[in-house]
Formats: sequence, C-alpha cells, structure tokens
Amino acid sequence: MNIHEYQAKALLRSYGAPVSDGRVVFKAEEAKTAAGELDGPLWVVKAQIHAGGRGKGHFKEAGAGDKGGVRLAKSVEEAAEEAKKMLGRTLVTHQTGPTGKQVGRIYIEDGSGIERELYLALLVDRQTSRISFVCSTEGGMDIEEVAAKTPEKILSFSVDPATGYQPFHGRRIAFALGLEGKQIKQCVGLMGTLYRAFVEKDMEMLEINPLIITDSGELKVLDAKVGFDSNALYRHNDIASLRDESEEDSKELEASKYDLNYIALDGEIGCMVNGAGLAMATMDIIKLYGAEPANFLDVGGGANKDKVTEAFKIITSDSNVKGILVNIFGGIMRCDVIAEGVVAAVKEVGLEVPLVVRLEGTNVEQGKEIINSSGLNVIAADNLSDAAEKIVKAVKG
Ligand code: GDP
Ligand code: MN
Repeated sequence: MNIHEYQAKALLRSYGAPVSDGRVVFKAEEAKTAAGELDGPLWVVKAQIHAGGRGKGHFKEAGAGDKGGVRLAKSVEEAAEEAKKMLGRTLVTHQTGPTGKQVGRIYIEDGSGIERELYLALLVDRQTSRISFVCSTEGGMDIEEVAAKTPEKILSFSVDPATGYQPFHGRRIAFALGLEGKQIKQCVGLMGTLYRAFVEKDMEMLEINPLIITDSGELKVLDAKVGFDSNALYRHNDIASLRDESEEDSKELEASKYDLNYIALDGEIGCMVNGAGLAMATMDIIKLYGAEPANFLDVGGGANKDKVTEAFKIITSDSNVKGILVNIFGGIMRCDVIAEGVVAAVKEVGLEVPLVVRLEGTNVEQGKEIINSSGLNVIAADNLSDAAEKIVKAVKG
C-alpha cells in the first residue's frame, strides 16, 4: 500500500527526521489560510498523487496552467492561486501513464533554499533478503536514468539483520554523498532513524528524492515516497487508516474486497487463472502468441463459486478486454467449481467477447460437462499453448 507525500513526511517527522512545515488542503477555499500559517518567503505547492515525477509532469486541463505538479510561490496569495489551479485537475507524469491522476489534495510547504539535491532509498532486496540502502549524489533525477547512464554514481549495500543499522553504514553513505563536517553526524543519525521507521512500520520502499542540503548546510527530506507491505497492515492500524482508495484502480479495489489477487494491466486478454505461477505462465504465453494480458488474476486455491463469479465480473467490467482466457489446473481448486462460477457469472453479466476455457486436473470431466451443457458459446482448449493460441486468434482474427 502506498501513501501520499504529506502523510509520509508526517510519519518521518514523528520519528524525528527533518522535514519542512506544511499543510494539506482538500478544497481551494482552504489554501489561503493554510499558506498563511507558514512562514515564507517561499512556498511550495505540491499536488498529492501516488506517483512520482510530478515536477516534470503536466496537467491535461488548460485551467491548471502550463507548470507541473510542484510549484514555487512567492506569496500566500500566489500559493493559494496555484493550489486552486491544480485541485480537481488531472496530472500526467511518466509514472501515471497517459490517463494521469486526478489531484484531490494539495500539500503547501514552507519552501527550502537548496544547495544540493541527493538521492536516498531504502528497500527490501529480494536477492539478499535484507534491507538495502541506495544513495546517489544525483538527486532530483530519475534514478533509473542514473542507473542506466552513470551507474558508478550509485552506492548500494544491504544491512545484516543480525547487527541492524550501525553508524558505519551512515558514514559510508555520508562519504559517498560528499557530506562534510556536522552533516556527517546528521546523516548517521538520519539513516538510523529511517532504518528504524522502515523496520517498525513494515515498509517495502522508502524513497527520498531529493534529500537535500539546505542553503544553511542542513540535511532535509524534501520528497518522500513510501510503500508498505500489505500483508503486514493488520498490525499497523495507523498506517492502514492512511489508505486513499481514490488512488487505487477501481477493479483492484473491488478484487481486494473478495480477496482475489488481481492486478490490472494494459492488454486486451482477460485472464482467470488459479495459482500465481500458472497466472504468470499464462501471461507469458499470451505474449508469445502476440497479444497482451489485460490483467493478472490468481483466484487462489480455495476459491468458491461466488469468488469465481466476482472475478469474472471484474474481468468483464474492463472495457479493454476483447477476449477471456480461463486457465485452470485443478489441484486444491476443483474444475467443477470454476465451471459453475464462470457459468453463473456469464448468466448474470452476459458475455460479449470470445471465451476460451482450458480445464485440467481435479473434477475436470464434471467441469467440462457443466460448461458444455450450459449453452454458452465457449471455445474449449486442451492445453496451455492451445488455449493461448485460440484466444489470440479469436481476438485478432
Ligand atoms: P517529484 O517531481 O514528484 O519528484 O516532486 P519533488 O517533491 O521531488 O519536487 C520536484 C522538484 O521541485 C525537486 O527536485 C526540487 O528541485 C523542487 N522543489 C521541491 N521543493 C522545493 C523547495 O522547498 N524549494 C525549492 N527551491 N525547490 C523545491
Ligand atoms: Mn521527487
């Protein structure tokens, strides 16, 4: 689960990390009062969406002006004006995709004088199963671009969980970032703070881009992107309450209510599969035959008819879906249950696109019988590649 920048900063502030003073606003009328509570002489007005690259982004609507989603203002009035222009409008960045995201909240912050912009991130390194620090002198830039063009400018190392964070980790970062004097001590403290927050709150990612050195020589967190391990949210009510459902894909949101593992994608073939590995293989083979999957969906091992029905409804509600592939290998999951779910769902929502069904495993005969006697226009397939070939052919002609 992701949270907004202003929420991440409040969290980091509670741990003692240096962040600017700021106010969040939901309505244009609130902007002037909020900005007036900050000192100035510089205000930063920041669109809050769950995506980076806001500064270099653009708005779809002309009324937002031609600046991006991070704007500097020299007065309270100007700050309020910029907030008003962005609220309710659609910000497109390289991370939002072409549809962009609607801005429902604005964060107005006390502006900082910047001497240097640095990059810092903590993440879970799956290779070492440890928490890694990543830092670079190239802050404010896309880190993927830095990694591609000047990888030598990135330092990355993992922390042994047996020792946890140690001051030498922080010094290593401080020297890599070219910090001097009291900044080194500040860095050692800040890295320890961030590491503690990361572990205690079960974060998956904490990206500070940029971490800055202010014009008075202090380290400060200027941007913060935080993602949490959703499987650990049950033990963090404070974090769970920060969830902003309007930022989530409506189909994914619906799927999460039914405990379905569903991820929306851009392709045209809707997939209903049991088991994450088989779902991955199904997506791969769709691509191999020249089409793109519209989603990842693992209905899970213990799915019942209702869950399958719901999954099918979510797939058909996606207007990009031009065909559906049901690929079930019945182990724990029984083929007849899947078949019943598919038939029930089609009866409820109708079927306007070709449907290929491949069933194999437990109760496969009953499953096929249910589908065959349902009167549905289903294309039967015998194996994985046959299924993929048939659905791609049905969609692409
Ligand atoms: P992002 O574009 O979504 O990553 O948003 P950021 O919060 O990183 O802001 C983008 C850029 O705006 C930063 O890299 C800074 O150059 C600039 N910026 C943000 N806050 C301030 C500030 O307080 N003062 C100044 N001078 N520039 C800022
Ligand atoms: Mn940033």
